[in-house]
Amino acid sequence: MRRFPTIFLAVLLVVPSTFARSHSDADADQRAAAAHHAAAKEIASPPPSAYNDHPKLAIILVIDQFRGDYLDRWRADFKNRGFNLFLQHGAYFPDCYYDYANTKTAPGHASIGTGAYTDGHGIASNDWWDLARNQDRPVSSVEDERYRLVGEPDSSLPSNQPGAPDTAPKYLTGSSPRNLLASTVGDELRLATQGEAKVFGISLKDRAAILPAGAAANGAFWIDPASGYFVTSTYYMPQLPDWATAFNTSGRIAQAEQEANAPPDTTQFYDLVGRTPAANSYELDFAQALIQGEQLGQGNVTDLLTISLSANDIIGHQLGPDSSYEHDMVDSLDTQLDTFFTWLDKNIPGGLGNVWIALTADHGVAPVPATAAQDGLNAGTWDLQKLSDALDYAINMKFSPGEKLDYIFPHQELPYISLNQSEFMKAGINEAEAEAAVQQLLPGAIASLTPPAAEPAPSDTPPGSQPSDHPAAQPSDKRLPPHPVLFRSYTREQLADGPYPPTPWGELLAHSYSPNGGWYIMVIPAAYQMETLRSIQTTHFSPYSYDRHVPLGFYGAPFDPGIYRGRVEPVDIAPTFAALLGINQPSAAVGEILTRALKPAADVVYPKPKPTPPPRTHHAAVSHPSKASTKPTTNAKPAHP
Ligand SMILES: [Zn+2]
Repeated sequence: MRRFPTIFLAVLLVVPSTFARSHSDADADQRAAAAHHAAAKEIASPPPSAYNDHPKLAIILVIDQFRGDYLDRWRADFKNRGFNLFLQHGAYFPDCYYDYANTKTAPGHASIGTGAYTDGHGIASNDWWDLARNQDRPVSSVEDERYRLVGEPDSSLPSNQPGAPDTAPKYLTGSSPRNLLASTVGDELRLATQGEAKVFGISLKDRAAILPAGAAANGAFWIDPASGYFVTSTYYMPQLPDWATAFNTSGRIAQAEQEANAPPDTTQFYDLVGRTPAANSYELDFAQALIQGEQLGQGNVTDLLTISLSANDIIGHQLGPDSSYEHDMVDSLDTQLDTFFTWLDKNIPGGLGNVWIALTADHGVAPVPATAAQDGLNAGTWDLQKLSDALDYAINMKFSPGEKLDYIFPHQELPYISLNQSEFMKAGINEAEAEAAVQQLLPGAIASLTPPAAEPAPSDTPPGSQPSDHPAAQPSDKRLPPHPVLFRSYTREQLADGPYPPTPWGELLAHSYSPNGGWYIMVIPAAYQMETLRSIQTTHFSPYSYDRHVPLGFYGAPFDPGIYRGRVEPVDIAPTFAALLGINQPSAAVGEILTRALKPAADVVYPKPKPTPPPRTHHAAVSHPSKASTKPTTNAKPAHP
């Protein structure tokens, strides 16, 4: 949604006519000065770009579940060059909102990498039903049974492998960007430099490592949830690079467990360490190992790294955005980022001035419903199992009276209600009829949900501890409890075909559509309402501002430091980077180049690295073996003999 306010246009028209005459002499002087300035500061030839390693390294730093208001809320705490690298020394945009309605982790990360929304990159959710691939459960956005995981420890081997423990899972499916329909800025960088640029992604989560980096990435790394080992997939490489194996066996896992007060050798690394600040320093240390191991920033073209820090999402779901643990996590991350940026300054040739960093998040989060309800909002939760049962009952009454067919799939996750198309087809009902019927029956099913019981004040301590009191008292004891309200619903066919209303809401809906997921209804509860959650207190999935608001900051030579007000979007990162790198925008990019935050080209100065960069060595482990088996890859090109 890009709108130039009328008042802005009016000012443009009025200012010259009112002031031009009296200021004509001054204007002439200014023009002369500007001409002199331009003559004195010529644009370097060739201008800085990816092709002449400006910058040496570009980093897209994503904090998983980090709402746009956090940096203002806790700004007084920040020290040194952590978040202040963006707030004081970079271009910071406090009003950055996703322009789509399905604010989940996988689509958020895909949007950041591709500069496109779900209608462009195809990722609508973290997982969805795909009966052609799996009849028993939804498939994840990145799981790929054609590949295998790489690098998991013996304790996590699948049970069909020698030496696997009795409790081992049957099958460790690999992962890939198979569902990503658009290229990323990293893909375009690889194409533009004919494979010379190196592109990697890191996260605790597979989807958050894979999707922002893209299909042409040299590698993506995430953790085995049980052990904390960093792993990858045979999509990228047949075995871990030596530096990654060295990291996994360095004792760094034990250090993270100790820092998180988790038991040594825990088999719940993701849950117990992942929700603590120790997980962020663990990931950032792995990023350092990768930068050194792969010699990022040491070549003759720009390299790119995406880092998604997962810890904030795990604690955020458990305790909510208003918990003191969230506050502690943000303050810890401020210090950890300062350490990481200081390390980059020492280890990238020429220092931090030769690095660009974009900071954003994949989505925000809602307040804990009980907290919002105490403040008077109609916040509450929907029991999706009850809703599915009510829908199944009503659909049976309509299409197969006396039977108990399962027309609604198990494992529902808002904003979608997924329909079991094979049951409908058996009953001779096509998609249009099925979706229209469910949409029509939805309000009645929602009305049958009993209003949620008065919930206790949210706990500000980990599960099992005593909850703390919320300071706000109930505004009135006459006020009725929150009750479920449906805001809007759309069938898959309605979303696919439109027409969308010619409004910001219509654009937001259009950006949310994907053909993935079979037959479904997109269900949008009223604001501050969500599905009933087990073992966590809040979530994100909606078109509401609290789920769409994320930070956006840039640090780097081309960016003019300042606070820039006005709506921008995370999809602006990829086109802005592409423009400055001199490469094509990603294939489906809809974001804008944030020219207002860019210095004049003649003012962009990069530090000259002092030492001569060592020749880049070839790492066999980062080539694309799966692809190399059918055709030579650009990796094989001896760019730096
Ligand atoms: Zn997320």
